Amino acid sequence: MLAKVDMDKIVSLCKRRGFVFPSSDIYGGLGSCWDYGPMGAELKRNVKDAWWKAVVHERDDVVGLDTSIMMHPKVWVASGHVDGFTDPLVDCKSCHLRWRADELDTQRCPKCGGELTEPRMFNLMFRTFMGPLEEEASTVYLRPETAQGIFVNFENVVTTSRKKLPLGIAQIGKSFRNEITTGNFIFRTREFEQCELEYFVKPGTDEQWLNYWIQERFNWYVKLGVKKENLRLRQHGKDELAHYAKDCYDIDYLFPMGWSELEGIANRGDFDLTQHARASGKELTYYDAEANEKYVPYVIEPSGGVDRSVLAFLIDAYDEEEIEGEKRTVLHLNPALAPIKVAVLPLSRNEKLTPLAKEVNKRLCSSFVTDYDDSQSIGRRYRRQDEIGTPFCVTVDFQSLEDNQVTIRDRDSLAQIRVPVTELNAILEAKLKGEAFDASDLWATRQK
Ligand SMILES: [Zn+2]
Repeated sequence: MLAKVDMDKIVSLCKRRGFVFPSSDIYGGLGSCWDYGPMGAELKRNVKDAWWKAVVHERDDVVGLDTSIMMHPKVWVASGHVDGFTDPLVDCKSCHLRWRADELDTQRCPKCGGELTEPRMFNLMFRTFMGPLEEEASTVYLRPETAQGIFVNFENVVTTSRKKLPLGIAQIGKSFRNEITTGNFIFRTREFEQCELEYFVKPGTDEQWLNYWIQERFNWYVKLGVKKENLRLRQHGKDELAHYAKDCYDIDYLFPMGWSELEGIANRGDFDLTQHARASGKELTYYDAEANEKYVPYVIEPSGGVDRSVLAFLIDAYDEEEIEGEKRTVLHLNPALAPIKVAVLPLSRNEKLTPLAKEVNKRLCSSFVTDYDDSQSIGRRYRRQDEIGTPFCVTVDFQSLEDNQVTIRDRDSLAQIRVPVTELNAILEAKLKGEAFDASDLWATRQK
């Protein structure tokens, strides 16, 4: 089973419409690094905002955190990353290419058939030096996950938030892994952004909370428009569990290259707090006043990749349609994710239309992310808005000058309706909130 759109089309749309560019493009790009353009920056923000809203703001049992990328080096010893966060590498003795031993199914170099060296363990953390001395004592790492910033702040957050368990601490931020194999556009990169929640629970309730978060996170993607048939759940086999995990499930998405992980939901047990308590000498326990007992909480961790979510939302929204003999490319993005919510398009760049069109845009832009566009034909401007997933276009025409009404065009149904300028904000707000795609009585007329 393969996704209906190939990656080249997505990459091409992303470049053409300003979603994603190769990093350092004018220098020929840098391997596995990508820059988000004007549309991509908005989309990525919206994905993170939707996550934060669902995981932090709409709940009373989760608080947010924003910790530094560089941490005390002892953190990574205690967490197991210095010793355990490694891939086995082999070198080809002929062409000197480097391979991951666990991904090879031959004993020879896949490129040239040459002989391979014995596997050596390669640590995936980026290392650098803090301060002016480049010596072992000043070595620091760029974090390979945001989670550890949460664990080492557990005591600070519990004390200051005055909350009881179960308590979640959420964080969005950049992480870095010096992966040997990267690729598939923004799916696997060495610098990437994570949305991580560490949800601290009483031991014994962990399995129930693991199931709860699997459901919650699966539904989040569905609510934001990802088709259910393109999602699946997969339990990790014992041999692929990370060193800290008791149990782990992946939410996979059907990417063009096949089923691949969007998010992992792991039961980390008490591994992290126990390790940090031992290494720091601080007691990292929780006093449960109701049960009058002290324990080290267990942790359920939903950990998602922002960049690969962005990619999945783009792929899932992508469609090529034929509308009365004419082809259009459209992103059926959920309005909450769409980079632009409303485009204001005067029928043409005409000195009589411009003042009213600008006035309409001014009315809207404090409430919605808008795009004002008066270049080229109206048809081409509609196509452009379809390609970036703008849910609504508002058109100002010569009749508007007479009756002070404008036309709203729906991206998906292509239905059009004329409304008074004075009611435009209220109508668009209602549509964007979720009635957007219902067949409503308001959609009086339909044009091609
Ligand atoms: Zn070789």
